[in-house]
Amino acid sequence: MHSLSRYPEEACALIVGCGDKAEEIVLAPNIAENPTRFFEIDPSARIHTEKKCRQSGQSIIGVFHSHPDGEAKPSNADANMVIERNFIWLIASLNGADEFHMGAFLPFQNGAGFTPVSLKIEEK
Ligand SMILES: [Zn+2]
Repeated sequence: MHSLSRYPEEACALIVGCGDKAEEIVLAPNIAENPTRFFEIDPSARIHTEKKCRQSGQSIIGVFHSHPDGEAKPSNADANMVIERNFIWLIASLNGADEFHMGAFLPFQNGAGFTPVSLKIEEK
């Protein structure tokens, strides 16, 4: 999980998989103007990942980002960024560089906000 840490900046990634099953986390550059407080996935990384998905039969099923010294739950800024309502939001909190928590959320189908979903990690 240390590869997901860009502490003190927010790390971000695309979650690739099938259905609701995440199979791969593809790290992407955070191009936000203020990457210690916000994240914005580089659109060219997204296009590249979509192309690869077309070949592998997978799809982008969600987004990951980290909250340095924050909580493993969506912020108000995150709620304003929701475009795809079927995307899983995986959020990691990092305290210092080594305490790591992770939460998974789905945007409400109507209106702003998220509902927590359970996260099951399977060994490969
Ligand atoms: Zn956030």
